[in-house]
Amino acid sequence: MITDLVQIKRLGDRDRTDNERLRKHLKTHPIAERILRRTAVEIESKIDCQTCANCCRQSTVRLTERDIERLIKALRLKKSRVIDEYTLPSEEEGTILKRDDENGCVFLNGTECLIYEDRPDICRDYPHLVRGPGSLIARMWHMPERASVCPIVYNTLEAYKQASDFPKKVGG
Ligand code: SF4
Ligand code: SF4
Repeated sequence: MITDLVQIKRLGDRDRTDNERLRKHLKTHPIAERILRRTAVEIESKIDCQTCANCCRQSTVRLTERDIERLIKALRLKKSRVIDEYTLPSEEEGTILKRDDENGCVFLNGTECLIYEDRPDICRDYPHLVRGPGSLIARMWHMPERASVCPIVYNTLEAYKQASDFPKKVGG
């Protein structure tokens, strides 16, 4: 199991094309959803997110109205202050949690989420292998990119390659 984040970035970037091929392969050579899910659950159970937090440093967090309401209650602030102090507008994603490239999410302290119990839904479901809307195959769309950030995704895609008749990589 590879969990070192430098390695994950290097290998995820190196295998991006292969992982795109895997995504397409799983569409035409389907494995039962419950088997894909079981594999992802098993790998997720072996990786400690609380010592990683790489997604909190690297990814944007799109907020729903429900997430904002939860933040208002948790922080005991008016909506206008929550919006001003903790969110940013994004052309592509609407309202996102405030973040910067150096430190990641505004609520990240080291590898600890300061609002863990009240974190947005998208954080609860990340990396969307075990939890998320729709089928796992439909969610695979984002996984080749996510494999460069998240050890759960990288290792799960490797396990899917082993479990399917995915042709071994040609070069790279
Ligand atoms: S809200 Fe918490 S879980 Fe979500 S990105 Fe920020 S630090 Fe991570
Ligand atoms: S979901 Fe992935 S990137 Fe985020 S903390 Fe867990 S292992 Fe790390």
